[in-house]
Amino acid sequence: MAAGIPNPEVKYTQLFINNEFVNAESGKTFPTLNPATGEQICQVQEADKMDVDKAVKAAKEAFKLGSPWRTMDASERGHLLYKLADLMERDREYLASLETLDNGKPFSDAYTIDLDLSIKCIRYYAGYADKNHGKTIPLDGKYLCYTRHEPVGVCGQIIPWNFPLLMQAWKLGPALAMGNCVVMKLAEQTPLTGLYVCSLIKEAGFPAGVVNVLAGFGPTAGAAISEHMDIDKVAFTGSTEVGHIIQQAAGRTNLKKVTLELGGKSPLIVLDDADLDTAVEMAHFALFFNQGQCCCAGSRLMVQEGIYDKFVEKAAARAKDRKVGNPFDKVEQGPQVDEEQFNKVLGYIKSGIDEGANLRAGGAKWGDKGFFVQPTVFSDVTDDMKICREEIFGPVQVIQKFSTVEEVIERANKNNYGLAAAVFTNNLNNATYLSNSLRAGTVWVNCYDALHSQAPFGGYKMSGIGRELGEYGLEAYTEVKTVTIAITEKNS
Ligand code: ADP
Repeated sequence: MAAGIPNPEVKYTQLFINNEFVNAESGKTFPTLNPATGEQICQVQEADKMDVDKAVKAAKEAFKLGSPWRTMDASERGHLLYKLADLMERDREYLASLETLDNGKPFSDAYTIDLDLSIKCIRYYAGYADKNHGKTIPLDGKYLCYTRHEPVGVCGQIIPWNFPLLMQAWKLGPALAMGNCVVMKLAEQTPLTGLYVCSLIKEAGFPAGVVNVLAGFGPTAGAAISEHMDIDKVAFTGSTEVGHIIQQAAGRTNLKKVTLELGGKSPLIVLDDADLDTAVEMAHFALFFNQGQCCCAGSRLMVQEGIYDKFVEKAAARAKDRKVGNPFDKVEQGPQVDEEQFNKVLGYIKSGIDEGANLRAGGAKWGDKGFFVQPTVFSDVTDDMKICREEIFGPVQVIQKFSTVEEVIERANKNNYGLAAAVFTNNLNNATYLSNSLRAGTVWVNCYDALHSQAPFGGYKMSGIGRELGEYGLEAYTEVKTVTIAITEKNS
């Protein structure tokens, strides 16, 4: 693994519209901070409605029939995506360093996980560019009927700050492979890597206007995307609260298609017969990975009564052992992304204590600068406590006890979210029965966060609409056109 560049030079801070880096129309900028110190890294151009309009105009132009993008062979679209992935590979150490600087995640994670998965995702969808086939359909009567899989058009994409590069790849990969044009808004906390990738998009040779990327805030630039009459589809990853706003904006305006990947409060169930040490370690990873800032974090840990006490003891010891510090050092955990998240997490810790949960590890901020939180573990958590019902999005493990399989199914499903779930057991029957019974878009058995480009990901209930990744991920970026041709009988 590369060593990392602790002070990577920031090369791009402007908006990317029509293959050019440009200033915001308003001339406004905003700061992006280093969460490990709380200090400003640089100022970034701040997009608003006027910039969204400009970007949409460029995307519409690029999507016109007869344009270079629309007349390009599908295999060539795939080739451009392969080139983009190769360029990300070339600049992998720099990109991972910039991600660590702006987001705070440990460099080792950024390099080996975020960059690895982002590059693989772009390559996976590159391969699909010329493989999204329609069907021929045997109609009654004398017809030839077939379907064409066409691009949807101009796609608005609004992404979060927890995995800036990976979320960009999840969105760009399928959209571009299917021939759409994109107006993307990066999260205001983490704009730097997404803007750098734009320079690679240009270098790879994508035609102007196919990808437009803006930095800016949700209620301004984000709202302008979700309300825009010339945007055909919006894909959003973020909070359930903002998911509601985006869905409503689409409903109020042009009924653009909406896919949402929202929050979660995913149950991780450990049965008495599970391998104890493996389950403790996986549950630790499931919650603490990425500073606990994962929509699919294993944030409701439900342990069967026969192993509960031992499990809690080991889980607390593992959390106390977790190495926190400067994300460019050899650490497991860096800071939360910003002060708002830091305060929110500390507020949840306080509510856990106030509501009578048993604090077994951590419970306070870490260090004297930046937005670090101690790895925290609560046991004896009951279903009605706030820390059990709401998404904390931080390094706070919540452990509950249960007795029977039927009981745990009922309690695990008693939540508005349904993004992911996990089961740890060596009993095949229980593994299958629980997997079938849990209302979640993904169920992991004896593993966690096994996220791969090939497998679909998305939520039941209030965790979202639609699926990303895998072949299923193409659907959101494809219009199905039915063509029916009458067959006239040949006259003799
Ligand atoms: P979090 O609470 O984790 O920061 P958000 O859902 O607020 O998650 O943010 C995810 C993305 O949604 C960010 O890019 C943010 O700017 C954007 N966003 C926030 N509010 C809105 C809004 N009203 N309309 C559109 N996008 C928004």
